[in-house]
Amino acid sequence: MSTFFIEFRDPLFGIIIFFILVFMISISSYWWTKYSNKEKNKSLDKFLKDLKQTPSVAEMQNLISKGSLSIKSWMLLASLYAKNGDFEKSIEIYNELLKVDDGNNTRELMFLLGRTYFKAGFLERAKQIFLNILKNNPRTPEALKYLLLVYEYMRDFDSAFEVLEPLDELEHDIELDAHYLRAMKLLSDHTIQDDAKVEQLIEIYKKDGDLTYLIFEYIFRTDPQFAWKNFDGCKGEKLIDILWSLDASKLDLDIISKNSFLKELYTARGDIKEVTKSTIFELDVLINLEKRANATLSFEYICDGCKQVFPFSFSRCSSCHAIDTVRVDLLLVKDHYKNDFEENNSFQ
Ligand SMILES: [Zn+2]
Repeated sequence: MSTFFIEFRDPLFGIIIFFILVFMISISSYWWTKYSNKEKNKSLDKFLKDLKQTPSVAEMQNLISKGSLSIKSWMLLASLYAKNGDFEKSIEIYNELLKVDDGNNTRELMFLLGRTYFKAGFLERAKQIFLNILKNNPRTPEALKYLLLVYEYMRDFDSAFEVLEPLDELEHDIELDAHYLRAMKLLSDHTIQDDAKVEQLIEIYKKDGDLTYLIFEYIFRTDPQFAWKNFDGCKGEKLIDILWSLDASKLDLDIISKNSFLKELYTARGDIKEVTKSTIFELDVLINLEKRANATLSFEYICDGCKQVFPFSFSRCSSCHAIDTVRVDLLLVKDHYKNDFEENNSFQ
């Protein structure tokens, strides 16, 4: 019998017990891992389901306070909501995160909240947030830049000028911003007469030759003669849409006859017959068509900073907020005005 049973004092007995224990621990560990993965997947499925159903504000508050996701994940989610234009959800998430934040992410969360308020058009709230950030951390250039934008959008140009000073101290180039704010303040001031405005705008333009589009758009509209007098021959292409839509009675033929671009432009429009071709494709086509087809120019506006295309001109890009980066692009299109005009006249 002793050959079949191992006595408990036998060393072999200890080894067998050891292997039994290892086996049991491995089995229980395997089942525990499987169970916890299943629970995790369940919770992930629930979260994804919640996302698809866009949880209500109360549900989101509940999820954030429970801490079921990390702050960084919530921040990513908030930025996705803002990108898709759901600013309300994005703002709610940032506000709730600020309530549970331990102080490590406060400045970043406040900045993101302020930026979302700005994008959503809540300028006063955005202003308060950025001022709050700067009260505790005055050397925060991103908050200063957004505060400048907020003041500009609020047409509070004096406060915007005050923001330039700390930005200058932080070694940011503020020259163009200063010119732009001066020009914008002038343009929005209804107490200044048009002739005084054009004089001051030209003064700003002559400093560095920037803001060409903003300044000449106004001057060609209010005082074309003064605009031609100060017209810089090499800036014609920058102003092509303004020059194209200028009334024939407002043209300065002396200046046009001395500038090759202007000669091509107004030959293409049919005002003069000075050239037979152009290096600009669209103008070349129109010159060669000589009004035999209902074609004209249309324009779109590209930001040289972020390459975003807009159907209207701008002085500050609404996407990347860069100043004076507009480039006018030409398009050959059917001249609907000419069609309508001819159809209306044929019934007379
Ligand atoms: Zn841009």
